[in-house]
Amino acid sequence: MLNKIFWEIHDGLPRQGPGNYASTLNAYRLIKDLPAKPRILDIGCGPGMQTFDLAELSDAIITAVDNHQPFIDFIQEKVNELELFDRVSARYGDMNNLKFDQADFDVIWSEGAIYLMGFREGLTEWKKFLKPDGYVAVSEISWLKKEPPPNLQAYWDEHYPQICSIEENIKTLCQCGYDQVGHFVLPPSACWDDYYDPIQIRLNELFKKYDDHPEVLEYLMREQTEIDMYKNYPMYYGYVFYIMKNK
Ligand code: SAH
Repeated sequence: MLNKIFWEIHDGLPRQGPGNYASTLNAYRLIKDLPAKPRILDIGCGPGMQTFDLAELSDAIITAVDNHQPFIDFIQEKVNELELFDRVSARYGDMNNLKFDQADFDVIWSEGAIYLMGFREGLTEWKKFLKPDGYVAVSEISWLKKEPPPNLQAYWDEHYPQICSIEENIKTLCQCGYDQVGHFVLPPSACWDDYYDPIQIRLNELFKKYDDHPEVLEYLMREQTEIDMYKNYPMYYGYVFYIMKNK
């Protein structure tokens, strides 16, 4: 039942995590010395907004991977519509156990998905697929300010205790064998426009639809709390894009 509710909230939304075209572009521009047609692996691609943005802003050959088959089907349909057959392909895969050749990609891209493995674990596991002089660009939720209010600290202790500061994440990426190229905080609009705002509209509908289902209401409240936390405390945490180079 709750899995069904998850998809009632998330199915058909433009994104499955914070991000926008400008942030994808900013991150891509920090990568300087790529071949004319770089090979990009987009991990945890969701419905593929950043996949198609990357296709638009570069001449890259992009492979998008997700473990939710409907996203893969959706991307393939869009590839057909846009006639991007030779540029973009999507395939089912588990980010913990990807089946690609070693050193196959110039760039590994992942927006709002590395947290599913952990920042350190993802950067370590995915490195083998990267060419020796390749790049990684990932966005990851991060503390922006010390000493958060107790309710915010408690929220993240419960939901993602691995959340780190930008300094800690940069230290981690260096320990994982990368040189830091750049980083930036995604603006709040990148969280609201294509992610929290559409979710809020869905939640408002579903609160009405399920008003006599306490278990569902509790589940919906959890998503509502995530939005409320960000509404109240955007100065304390946010999504940060980290761009790094294999060393
Ligand atoms: N990059 C997209 C989606 C981010 S949400 C965007 O910004 O919109 C995280 C995505 O990771 C979801 O699409 C989810 O289906 C996918 N995912 C979850 N676990 C996964 C796994 N083990 N392997 C591959 N993808 C996974």
